[in-house]
Amino acid sequence: MSELRVIAIDGPAGSGKSTVARAVADRLGLDYLDTGAMYRAVACAALRRGVDPGDVDAVAEVARSIDLDLTRDACVVDGVDATTDIRGPEVTGAVSVVAANPGVRVEMVARQRAWATERGGGVMEGRDIGSVVFPDAELKVYLTASAEVRARRRAGEAGGLDVVSVGADIDRRDAADSGRETSPLVEAPGAVVLDTSELGVDEVADRVVGLLE
Ligand code: C5P
Repeated sequence: MSELRVIAIDGPAGSGKSTVARAVADRLGLDYLDTGAMYRAVACAALRRGVDPGDVDAVAEVARSIDLDLTRDACVVDGVDATTDIRGPEVTGAVSVVAANPGVRVEMVARQRAWATERGGGVMEGRDIGSVVFPDAELKVYLTASAEVRARRRAGEAGGLDVVSVGADIDRRDAADSGRETSPLVEAPGAVVLDTSELGVDEVADRVVGLLE
């Protein structure tokens, strides 16, 4: 694992992970993987197949059998485009319970490690990259931001949704992600914590790249 060049970027919803991870990947010439999109894709496939997101065994089977083609700009699930659906309210409502399913996590973590191994590493963002997927990553960053800033960012990304309801949704997912038994959201040992509340994307990306030097 040590010869892989993995940059792990973890943190709660709206902390700026995706935009920062993409910017860091561009600067370093590395590929980028949004692991949250993988859990969203499993939730989307379960809903499409009529599987109850709370049915642990059936959803783990969905995770094992799903054909997932995830690129920087698109997500295709079982041959059908899901780029918009994985960000929609139904998937967002179901993803926490799907991501808490140990069988789903075993499969997704294996796919994430294979992704990095195939290309010699990359910038990977999620909740457990530095704690579980690649604890020996070259650099581990944990991004945070105030609850208000996170809600504003997510509401803006979603095309101007109501900040209060987006904030409530983020709180619900954070509580589920931090409180679950399997791979909860934590600051990984050795992770550098960066509060992005007052910083722009370029500033955060500069700091992350600076940490490598
Ligand atoms: O990053 P995003 O908010 O799109 O992630 C959606 C959900 O996927 C999170 O709320 C979390 O439950 C789950 N997730 C996870 N582990 C990861 C990435 C995301 O459990 N590495």
